[in-house]
Parts: sequence; C-alpha cells; structure tokens
Amino acid sequence: AASAAPRPPVRLRADVLAVPPYRQGAAPTRPGFKLSSNENPFPPLQAVVDVLSDPAAVNRYAAAAMPELRAALAAEFGVSLDGVHLAAGSVAILFQLVAAAAAPGDEVLHAWPSFEAYPSLGLSSGAVSVPVPLTADAEHDLDAMADAITERTRIVLLCTPNNPTGPTIRRADFERFMQRVPADTLVVLDEAYREFVTDPEAVRGEEVLANHPNLVVLRTFSKAYGLAGLRIGYAVGAPAILAAAQVTAIPLSVTGVAEAAALASLQPSARAELAARIEVLVARRAELVAGLRELGLAIPEAQGNFVWIPEGPGGVESAAALAAAFAAEGTLVRPFPGAGVRITVAEAESLPVVIGIVREFLAAG
Ligand code: PMP
Repeated sequence: AASAAPRPPVRLRADVLAVPPYRQGAAPTRPGFKLSSNENPFPPLQAVVDVLSDPAAVNRYAAAAMPELRAALAAEFGVSLDGVHLAAGSVAILFQLVAAAAAPGDEVLHAWPSFEAYPSLGLSSGAVSVPVPLTADAEHDLDAMADAITERTRIVLLCTPNNPTGPTIRRADFERFMQRVPADTLVVLDEAYREFVTDPEAVRGEEVLANHPNLVVLRTFSKAYGLAGLRIGYAVGAPAILAAAQVTAIPLSVTGVAEAAALASLQPSARAELAARIEVLVARRAELVAGLRELGLAIPEAQGNFVWIPEGPGGVESAAALAAAFAAEGTLVRPFPGAGVRITVAEAESLPVVIGIVREFLAAG
C-alpha cells in the first residue's frame, strides 16, 4: 500500500532507494510456528521476569555507561571495563563499526550467504559490500576471503556459526586467516549464536581476542538469552576501536530495562536455567538435522539454533517453493532464493511439523 502512494518531492539518495529494506519475519498465522527469525521459543528466564515486573524508572534515561553490566561481561572475558561496549542489539554495533572504519568507497568484506544485514551496513557511509561465496559445504571460504582483501578493505566480518548455513569457523582456520589480514584492518567475529556451539574445534572469541589487537568479538542477548525484543548486544575488543563505535552510535539507544534484564540473566540463579534451555535446543537441533538427513537431504553442520536446507545438489530444487509450502501450512521459515532455506530450532511440537512438510514437499516434487 505504501508504494502505491505518490512519493513526495523530497530528495532522497538514489543508492538508498535502490536497496530493499530489511524486513523481519512476519507473525505466524495459526496453527503454525514462527521459525523465520532464529528466536528463542522459551519465555523469559525467571530472573528476567522479576526485573521486568519491577516498575523501573522509565521516565529517566538509562545511566549512560552501564558499568555494572559491562563489568560483569568484562570479567567473563578477562578484559578491562572499557574493553566492553553495549548497544541496542549487536546489529547496531555492526553499523557503528562500519561507520567508524569505512569511508566512501572503502570495502566491507563478508561471506555470502551470511547475516542479511551485512550487505547494507556500508550504505549510509558509502562503503561497498564485498560478498565472498561460501564453500560447497556452506562454510566460510577463508582462502577466497583473504584473496579478496584489497587496499580498500577496512573491515572483515566473520560469522560463526554462520547464519544462515550453520557451520562454525575452526580455530586453526581462523588463525591462518588472521595471518593474512593486515594489522590495520578491523576483523569482527560475529558470535551471535555462540552459546549453541558444541564443536570443540570452533573458534571462540574469548580464546583468541588477546592475540589479535585488530579483532572485535560481537555477542548478543537476543538468541540463547531470549531477549531479542529488548534489544541488547555487546562487543569486546580494543578500547580505542570501541570508543570509535561509540562516536558513531545513536545516543540513548540502550534502555535501562534491557540493561537490567541482561544483568539479571547473568546472575548465578539464572545460569542453570539458561544452560538447561540451551541443552534442550541443542538436542532438538540434532533431532531436526537427523530427521532431515534421513529424508536424503545434505544438511550442513548445524551449530546455531537453526538448520539449513540447501537449494541444488543434495538439497531442494527451489528454496522459494519450499518456503511457500511451509507458508501454506501456516509456518514461517526464511528462504534465501537461489541458495536455501533456514529453519529455526524452536518448540518441540514444531519438529514433526517441519519434517512432515519437507517430506511431503520432496514426495510431491
Ligand atoms: N549477527 C547475526 C549473525 C545475527 O543472526 C543477528 C540476528 N539475526 C544479529 C547479529 C543481530 O542480533 P541482535 O541485533 O538482536 O543482537
């Protein structure tokens, strides 16, 4: 409806108008499931409920520096307070870092398919997205990414586990890649799904941060912690880099409610509850992967809270058609047309629904 309305004679940037806006998955139509945004199916942790039911001082802005939460996170990483930076979601930090590092014409290097926000991060600063195709196994092609580094590359985004495909970057491969990245080029390790990783060979931000001054590790409370709707994420890295991100940040964005909820979910009382939920989701992930592989599909290693059905050899003929088959049953999944379909690991009841729809789709095709 909006596009049918006449455009007012306001001069907007042509390069901005040329890009389709990022759209969240829509709400599910009953009786299906919303498996399109990698959300956590569980209600808030009890410690978070306690905080949310406390009538917070929402007439006030949050205390800007949020030292308590940052101190808790800094302690986990063994860094100083100014080595932790908070924002209204880790996606906000991605925008801040690109704005801080990349000027017009500079390059933002990232794998593809990967997080759908990556290609547009440089838009407002005029930086250029340089996507590097994944390998046949749906993993980062780190050799090709290193080959793609130019004099204009200012920031490299590594997503592990990779959204939407699932595999992690192994620590040895990460270290080999870092050898090829110039010391003045910022590398971001986007670990939004870190808590779901079970592969002991996967790179872990806290283990490699100290050796790489040009590395920033990105984490979020949106996924395993289940606080997607409150919008809070964080970065850990060199204080000078994080200070630059703060300069490009939209002021006053992190709310005191989000801060309190994040802090509550780090309390010892919440830890066991959180760990149990992660264990349940990891078990459901294994069940879903096994069920889909039994149908003959080549499902890549799933290390996040989602599974990937590729389009093409070993996968389905059409990602768009599979997503449409899900939608017809009221369940939302995320198609990447031409590449595959991403399905979030969520409610226990969603597992047989997913397997059933895919089985019927394959039988009909
Ligand atoms: N990074 C990755 C890889 C993601 O998948 C997402 C969310 N889909 C984000 C960052 C952003 O998460 P948030 O802004 O909620 O922290």
